[in-house]
Amino acid sequence: MQNSLFISPGEETYPFRLRPLPYPANSLSPFINQETLLLHHGKHLAKYVEELNKALKPYPKYHNWPLTRLLENIILLPREIQTPVLNNGGGVYNHNLYFNAMAPPGSKAQKGHLIDRIKIDFSSPEDFYILFKEKALEVFGSGYTWLAAKGSALKILNTPNQNTVLPLGLYPLFLIDVWEHAYYLQYQNRRGEYIDNFFKLINWQYANANYLNSLKTSL
Ligand code: MN
Repeated sequence: MQNSLFISPGEETYPFRLRPLPYPANSLSPFINQETLLLHHGKHLAKYVEELNKALKPYPKYHNWPLTRLLENIILLPREIQTPVLNNGGGVYNHNLYFNAMAPPGSKAQKGHLIDRIKIDFSSPEDFYILFKEKALEVFGSGYTWLAAKGSALKILNTPNQNTVLPLGLYPLFLIDVWEHAYYLQYQNRRGEYIDNFFKLINWQYANANYLNSLKTSL
C-alpha cells in the first residue's frame, strides 16, 4: 500500500505503470465491492496504461513529458497520437484521480479549507451533494463528473469520454467515474445509488490537499 495523498495523478512520465490501489481491494465494500474494484483497476486502468505506452513508444521526444503536460498540450503532439493520448492518457489520469479520491468509509473527516469553501459556494455539504448528484445523473453515455477549482472558486462540471478538465485551466479536486464499467457489475442501471454510495467514500483529506495545491498554483 502506498501513501499517495499528495501525489498528483499527472506527474508521472513514460513509461507509465499501473499504480497499486492505495487501499485493500475489499475495503470500499459494500459501497464498491471487491469484484468491481479489481476489474476496474486491474483490467480497465491497466489497459489504458498499456495503450498510452504503446502510443508514445515511437516518440522519445515526449518521454520526459509528465502526463499533465501531455494532456494540456494535445494539439502540440503529432497528429497520429493525439487521439490515443487524449483517450488513454486521459484514462490513466482520470482513474488515478478516481481511485485516490476514495478511501475506506469512515477514515476521513469532513473538515478543512475545501469544506469551508463548499459551505460558501453551495450553502452546505448536503446541498453540494444534491447538485453534484444531479450533474452526475446528467452524463449521457460515458464520462465523469468533477469537482474542480480555479484558484479558490469551485466548479462542478462534466466531461465526456476520457477528457480531463486540464485544458480548461481547472484544477481537479476529485471526480466520479460514471462509465458503466465503474458500477454496472454491482449496481446494474442504478447509477443514482452508486453516486449516493460514492459520497460515503470521498477521501476529503486528499480532496482538501488538492484544493490547497490549487490555491498555491493560482498565487
Ligand atoms: Mn473507469
